[in-house]
Amino acid sequence: MPKPPPNPTSSADEFRVWRHPFRSLPTRLGFFVLAVTLCTSLVISTVSLRAIDSFLREKIQESFPAMLQRTGIELDFWYEDHKAIAAEFARDLISVGHLQDLLTDTSPSEKSFARTVVGRQLHSMLLEVPTFSSAFVRDGQGELLLWRGDELELPQSMRDPLASATFSRVGYSEGRYYQVTSTELEGTLGATLHFVFDLAVLAPVLRLHGGGMQGHISIVDAEQRYIASSSGERTASTYALPLPGDGAATRAVERIDDEDRRFIASSMPVGRHNWSLVIEEEYDLAFARVATAMRRVAGINLAIIAVFALIAYRFAVGLVRPVEALSRAARQMSNGEINIQLPRTASRDEVGLLTRAFSEMTSRIEANAREIEAANRHVEEVNAELRTRNDELHSANHVLAQLSITDGLTGLYNHRYFQDSLAKEAKRTNRTEEPLALILIDIDHFKRWNDSLGHAAGDAILKRIAEVMKTLLRSSDVLARYGGEEFALLAPGTSADGAQQLAEKIRRTIAETQFFINPPSERRNVTVSMGLSHYAGDKKQLFSEADQALYRAKDSGRDCVMVFEPNEGS
Ligand code: GH3
Ligand code: MG
Ligand code: MG
Repeated sequence: MPKPPPNPTSSADEFRVWRHPFRSLPTRLGFFVLAVTLCTSLVISTVSLRAIDSFLREKIQESFPAMLQRTGIELDFWYEDHKAIAAEFARDLISVGHLQDLLTDTSPSEKSFARTVVGRQLHSMLLEVPTFSSAFVRDGQGELLLWRGDELELPQSMRDPLASATFSRVGYSEGRYYQVTSTELEGTLGATLHFVFDLAVLAPVLRLHGGGMQGHISIVDAEQRYIASSSGERTASTYALPLPGDGAATRAVERIDDEDRRFIASSMPVGRHNWSLVIEEEYDLAFARVATAMRRVAGINLAIIAVFALIAYRFAVGLVRPVEALSRAARQMSNGEINIQLPRTASRDEVGLLTRAFSEMTSRIEANAREIEAANRHVEEVNAELRTRNDELHSANHVLAQLSITDGLTGLYNHRYFQDSLAKEAKRTNRTEEPLALILIDIDHFKRWNDSLGHAAGDAILKRIAEVMKTLLRSSDVLARYGGEEFALLAPGTSADGAQQLAEKIRRTIAETQFFINPPSERRNVTVSMGLSHYAGDKKQLFSEADQALYRAKDSGRDCVMVFEPNEGS
């Protein structure tokens, strides 16, 4: 049994699915390359980011303590410098003679004058060293004698007497941190000269070694307050992390401030005043270079990934196009098309080979199909020819068959056919027991017609009698020319009376028929004699009985019908 053809709808569906943009080979390959390159790039980026991060941390671990160290030394220098300046100013003040008048009991006018002179001296000192915001003098009992510069409300801690050549504790006043120097004025029974300075003046010193840093270095006191900062900002907030003790390792640590900013910090104790130096840098700023580099790397990566994915997509499109053409061609072939055009390709890859092989196959199939078509046409022509011949043969056979049972002159059945019919009808009558009559007809004195008119006229009479008799018969009657001028009529299913009436009708019709015999104007009458018999179980007997009756008709003067009578033969 032949296989049913593939369902075209399901095939088309499959084609559509295959053509779906997210299931097509190019898209899948593009996504695959995208995924692979993206993963690779992510892994490499993460690893390199970690490496850079730890490298920068190492750098910070190295650079922060060094910066703190140098800043500490610088700070020390600053304090020593300013201690020396204060000492020099003290000496200068002593050299001014009017200082004694201010310290001893003199007249009010002298004292007032001395105050003016010393005050002017202090003023010029403040102008000379702008770092100091105010200057004041105390007597041996600690009593404030004179104040020049900014008026400040100093906290008690700063008012306490100090040892000479020292600095006071840090005091907070009006939002600023201050310190006071103390220098003994020699030969004045314990009087002291003091300079007040805002710790903000330390900002440039703290800034000196923060080279390249985005963050800042601050001084944090024992209470962890920021008292000075390289940024110059004044803040009352405190440093959140525990400060390292003397000699403790100053490793960089991370901290998050109140505003959720992430810092990298390192601190170091400074011997003077029990302070610590703190260096802090905002994490994002410290790693800004890494972040920038990473952004750039990520950008380049994405560009490369996109380019590779696009290249993969284009490559796959190029690869799939011929496959698509092949698939289309195969579909056309399965639909029975033969004139299939495939794009020519010079490509030496597998797809190119496949395309060429497919192309060869289609042209062979096409050639074969054409050959088969031509052969089919030929077969059809031969078949048509054969059919014609067959028809001719059929009609020839028919003609032959007719001829074989027909008498050539009269067109009636011939002797042989009569014999066959007699045998057949005898058998049928045996079975059905229906009547069967046989009438033998002989033209009277026919010899004379022949002799007087010629053989041709005799033939014409024979033909004419045959025609006349045919018009009187039923389709079941079999009329044959038995021989010469004798006829035999087999009438199945005809009763004795019926047969006799039929015979009589034939005789009468012939006797009444006018025969135009040469010359046509000469009309003659022809008569026939007939012998009739009925089938009684033996066909030979039937014939012989009819023959006997016929003889009797001849003997009785011709032109009559004689029925066989049983005692006739005896
Ligand atoms: P009867 O009345 O006794 O039958 O006389 P008849 O002359 O018919 O009898 P007979 O048998 O002696 O003659 C038959 C003649 O029929 C002899 C023959 O010349 C003629 N005849 C037989 N066949 C043909 C034929 O095919 N054509 C012609 N024209 N004549 C034929
Ligand atoms: Mg005869
Ligand atoms: Mg005769």
